[in-house]
Amino acid sequence: MTDFGLLDTDEADVPGDEWEEIDYADTEADRIARERDREFSEFRERIKDADQFKVEESVFDEATYGALYKLVQDGYVDAFGGPLSTGKEANVYEAIGEDGETVAVKVYLTTTSNFRQMGDYLEGDPRFEGIKGSTTDVVIAWVRKESSNLERARAAGVAVPEPVAVQRNVLVMEYLGDESGPAPTLNEVSIENPETAFSVVEEYMRRLYDAGLVHGDLSEYNIVVHEDQLVFIDVGQAVTVHHPNAEDFLDRDCRNVASFFADLGVDVTAESLRTSLEAGAAPREK
Ligand code: ATP
Ligand code: MN
Repeated sequence: MTDFGLLDTDEADVPGDEWEEIDYADTEADRIARERDREFSEFRERIKDADQFKVEESVFDEATYGALYKLVQDGYVDAFGGPLSTGKEANVYEAIGEDGETVAVKVYLTTTSNFRQMGDYLEGDPRFEGIKGSTTDVVIAWVRKESSNLERARAAGVAVPEPVAVQRNVLVMEYLGDESGPAPTLNEVSIENPETAFSVVEEYMRRLYDAGLVHGDLSEYNIVVHEDQLVFIDVGQAVTVHHPNAEDFLDRDCRNVASFFADLGVDVTAESLRTSLEAGAAPREK
């Protein structure tokens, strides 16, 4: 499934080489915001006045309005709906996508982002060598990383939302959930068969690791249950195995996952999970 060797950094095909030609300096959204034609101004006023964007902290800067406008212009978004989640770094909105389907739009706040910590995750990732610019540059790089991580995870056979489009500090992705609301996180549901759920999470962790990625913030809060399937979300901070802290992040992921499932009666420890990830295919899969 993956065609690059784990830890084989000498290969040309190391994780993230797709980043080399990306120019972070200026985006279409910045250009739109600068030029401010009448249509954009009208769009911005409409979005500014919309109730769903009046949640705390979501006072977007001009270029963010530019990014949202560009996504509409390009047809990725037809109409914005209400917030699914508001956080310190990003808000996630429901929206209508290209073909009338629901999409999730994650808008990173360039003003309040914890960009120093973000920088620590970017540094050491071969995909982001030399990206040490302004807050905005870091956030833009971060969103591209999140989209790239989603693609890499999917290619490795891990269930994650499908990325649809990236524009500056905004990521459009497949919506997980139904008409009644977003898919619940693992801590919000009662799990009928913890053993089975754990073996799926373990297998996804292994596939990610084999694809050269460590999630870095994995827990019952970043796994959702969508159409009876477990889906990993929030992969923005996921790093490649080359990252100097990759091992620590993996250990932490193992601790979170093991403690959640051990509480449900599954026979697992952080150590046994970690060992099993490194051992390749799980015996229970055979
Ligand atoms: P946090 O800091 O709370 O971990 P975050 O800002 O990093 O959040 P996510 O974890 O990616 O962002 O998303 C926050 C919440 O938004 C999720 O818990 C989920 O409820 C909702 N959400 C995120 N992505 C999607 C999606 N693709 N479809 C439906 N809901 C989503
Ligand atoms: Mn999250």
